[in-house]
Amino acid sequence: MANPRRKDPAKNQIPRNISPVAASPARSDPIKPAPETKLVSETKPAVAPAPPTPPQPEPIKPVTLAPATSPTPATGEIKSTTPKTEKTVGAPASATAPPPAVRPDSGAEPTKAATGPQPPPAEANPPVKPPPTSAPVVPKVATEIKPATGINPLAEALRSAVIKQRIETGSTTGARPIAEIKPVPETKVVSEIKPAVAATVDKSAATSIPPKPEPVKAVAVSPTSRPVPVSAEIKPAPPKPETPVGATTPVTPAAVRPDSGSAPTKAPITSIKPEPAVSQKLEPVAAPSEKKEPPPKPVTPPAPPVSEQAVVKEIPKLNKAEPEAEEPQPALEAAPPPPPAIPSMFVVMIASELTPVAKVGGLADVVYGLARELESRGNAVEIILPKYDCMRYDHIYGLTKAYENLWVPWYGGAIHTTVYFGFVHGRKCFFIEPHSNDNFFNRKCFYGQTDDVLRFAFFCRAALEFMLKTNKHPEIIHCHDWQTALVPVLLYEMYQHLGMRHSRVCFTIHNFKHQGVTGEHVLRATGLNRPEYFSNYDRLRDNHNPHAINLMKGGIVYSNFVNTVSPRHAWEAKDGGQGFGLEPTLNIHHCKFGGVLNGLDYEQFNPQTDPHIPAKYSADTIEKKYENKRALRKRFMLADNDKPIVSFVGRLDPQKGLELVRHAIFYALGHGAQFVLLGSSPDASINEHFWGLKRHFNDNPDCHLEIAYNEEVAHLIYAGADMIVVPSRYEPCGLTQIIAMAFGTVPVVRAVGGLADTVFDKDFSNRPLHERNGYVFENADNPGLESALQRAIACYYQFPEHFRQLMLNGMRGDHSWNQPAQHYLKIYDYIRQK
Ligand code: ADP
Repeated sequence: MANPRRKDPAKNQIPRNISPVAASPARSDPIKPAPETKLVSETKPAVAPAPPTPPQPEPIKPVTLAPATSPTPATGEIKSTTPKTEKTVGAPASATAPPPAVRPDSGAEPTKAATGPQPPPAEANPPVKPPPTSAPVVPKVATEIKPATGINPLAEALRSAVIKQRIETGSTTGARPIAEIKPVPETKVVSEIKPAVAATVDKSAATSIPPKPEPVKAVAVSPTSRPVPVSAEIKPAPPKPETPVGATTPVTPAAVRPDSGSAPTKAPITSIKPEPAVSQKLEPVAAPSEKKEPPPKPVTPPAPPVSEQAVVKEIPKLNKAEPEAEEPQPALEAAPPPPPAIPSMFVVMIASELTPVAKVGGLADVVYGLARELESRGNAVEIILPKYDCMRYDHIYGLTKAYENLWVPWYGGAIHTTVYFGFVHGRKCFFIEPHSNDNFFNRKCFYGQTDDVLRFAFFCRAALEFMLKTNKHPEIIHCHDWQTALVPVLLYEMYQHLGMRHSRVCFTIHNFKHQGVTGEHVLRATGLNRPEYFSNYDRLRDNHNPHAINLMKGGIVYSNFVNTVSPRHAWEAKDGGQGFGLEPTLNIHHCKFGGVLNGLDYEQFNPQTDPHIPAKYSADTIEKKYENKRALRKRFMLADNDKPIVSFVGRLDPQKGLELVRHAIFYALGHGAQFVLLGSSPDASINEHFWGLKRHFNDNPDCHLEIAYNEEVAHLIYAGADMIVVPSRYEPCGLTQIIAMAFGTVPVVRAVGGLADTVFDKDFSNRPLHERNGYVFENADNPGLESALQRAIACYYQFPEHFRQLMLNGMRGDHSWNQPAQHYLKIYDYIRQK
């Protein structure tokens, strides 16, 4: 069999002197307090026995990956496994049906595949009101949604710089240096949008919508057909010995590359602040092995065996010396005045998900977390949601009718609707409940219905009608994903003429793959009665299907600001070929497009307070994490041994790189690790595939797959696992790696989207040591994944103190909503003044 590492660049290989197979089974767990000298002696290769679990043969034919540039999933790629004869270990009885075939603790069952009846498209209901007529009021917003009337000089300067750099490096296809990728212009747009765009806005020119020709040439500047960028910056870093993260190491080109300064635009967006002092504060790491590391430099008496700490310490001294000598005092005079505080605002979020009442994925977490943070800063925030029958009503407090007889115009008639109010863990929420035969939200599921477009189009119209009738005049309406993309269209084409003149719209795209591409009937249903007008290419017509309209495109065209959920993905979507056909639209509207990294709500995901885990802990008491590891093993009936637990939590969607998830299971089990998976899919064939895997590993005491959605189990995995793999094909932000880090679980991720913006490789990142928090690989193939997972497992076994430092670095990073909320407030503040 060919060496799997051959295909992967050298940067991805682990040092050859480290073999996870050679690990001593007697090694200590990194989260246990362990005598370091003992560990060193235990990691001697000479005493390396074979791993306890022999490599598992992969029963499934390897699946050919789609090119990274075409992340459109091919669900059919996954083939079912032939389940082994089931021998239930520790289970009372085996059965042939999937659910009973698992160990008895796997209580949770797939809950998301329920489908409801498929009623025909809505027809007229009791027509009570005539459809509203549009008065010829000049829309105030039109000025700023005409981006092409001016050019954002900053964005253009950045764009020119990038192009120039590309020309200089000659790199237009294939591998690109990360330095070239990082300075996403959108990052600047977020923080500097106000002056930049303001200069281009012609306030006197007010038209309804920007019907302007699309400068398609702009697209040609960006090599959209390029594969997902490869970080060439890693290439000079040869395989090298273990890097003691957060401590000291010999200075290598990768650690101190001068081009590391090329990512300044990223710094304001990421929430990790450079804290030089931290690198000195970090506990010194014991020498992993005298024979492998260079001799210690005598910096301090108990000096570590490597010298980078000394270098880091020296830098401030050097920097200090010069300015202090020349300018002893003027620093006081130069102190900048504090930035003017942004006045508080009334924000209405309109969304299809909210944690924990209606959660499918990260969108729900973002809506809740951002709303909470905005409120904590003195803003008034209300959230409008559909009233799904399958919501977690036990998390809604004081549910009461807020508006009983709302008549929502629909297909020339109107649907009788009731709006409820309730608190969801302190958030003020309104729930839309239509009363019609369509039963839009009584489907026992959130998505996946054939009339999803109509369901959520109705939701958009109802939300606006509710705000109009209740005289709500939020300064900001914040919409999320295609489900609410019609809100800005309806607002500017209809509701502003009915009185809602002051509201401005921020539209956040969490996933470009789902766009709401549909027929013109949805226009008629919602009262947008001029199909020829709305189906114009400058408005809602799909970029690829001239007979379809695209709701997400409408959201981009009509919103005052559009963002995706990480700076890197903003670039990927607009210029990196991951916009799923919306690249031209994003380029036209680039002046109002940016990336804001998602935050994490530490109230929900906090190992110190989490009600779902048996042992609470923090970075200072990280050894208690081991109790959660034991609890996780107990719950999944895994063997209690010295192996690390590798995990995966997430939707089983092709987006998540399911072939690599599957490969990670086999690889981990074959290289001395345990594996747990929690996930489910609305796609029955994908679920069945993972049920097949589950049956295959039924007797394996080191593996458990939970094919379900289970919030509590998710928390236990975050707390109990040692590593989490996130090998996504594309990832707008990704929360699982951020949550995992908050729980001290080390992420092993592919360098894409928000994963690349949040995880920094222990060995090859050009970040300061104390910011390195995981393992990163480039290529979406098995060798790529192995190159990172192998290093992670090897580090766990052979350098437990280094691994522990990685855990601590992840826990100490600031991924809160603090910075992202500040960015959103700046965006709100900018657009509301238009
Ligand atoms: P996406 O938004 O693409 O689904 P993210 O990583 O942004 O992915 O967010 C996923 C969120 O959903 C996390 O909070 C994760 O814990 C949660 N989640 C995903 N799958 C499950 C599951 N099967 N059970 C419990 N929580 C899940």
